[in-house]
Amino acid sequence: MSQPEDENTRPDPTLNGDPSLGGDGVRGTNDRPTIQNEPVVFVSYDPTDPTARTYSALIDAYAFFNARLFSGQLPPCLLTLQRRKQAYGYFSGRRFATRDGTAITDEIALNPSHFAERTTEKILSTLVHEMVHLEQAHFGTPSRGRYHNTEWARMMRAVGLIPSDTGEPGGKETGQRVSHFIEEGGALRARLRRLARCADEHGALRRVGE
Ligand SMILES: [Zn+2]
Repeated sequence: MSQPEDENTRPDPTLNGDPSLGGDGVRGTNDRPTIQNEPVVFVSYDPTDPTARTYSALIDAYAFFNARLFSGQLPPCLLTLQRRKQAYGYFSGRRFATRDGTAITDEIALNPSHFAERTTEKILSTLVHEMVHLEQAHFGTPSRGRYHNTEWARMMRAVGLIPSDTGEPGGKETGQRVSHFIEEGGALRARLRRLARCADEHGALRRVGE
């Protein structure tokens, strides 16, 4: 399962601010920040900011599931909210790149049009479903197109999701459109419940109205 990290996909540490460049007085007596040496922080987490509030919940959930369900082996990916597809979510491998093409990342999209009608546990289970697609893309053998194959079904079961084309027990586990349900009594059910409570307290935004 272990695979060397792709150098090109490793996040640039300077994006999070290099402490040696901060105005901490270590490099001089008068370290007033300048354009050249001010720390670059892209994610300043302001809980009153709707974007930060919503996406930070997704980032936290991704990290939580990666650590507990995938041994932390999944590479980081771009999490987006997309309303254009008739799906709860989708995985799209190597879908985003920097302008110079040196950093390429996968995308996991969740569809916020369904957030209001679904429980937080179910929304989070969709994130896990897409993370299994990402796992298979990096460590397994996906079929062409959007076909959910038997290897994917086995990987789903390994994390506590039962594939089903109806979303109910007894459905087909493979095919173009396959949903899932959460295994009852399993560790994932308990974790989803706990994380859902945290996410709801955190106050991630949901789309309301038409
Ligand atoms: Zn799928």
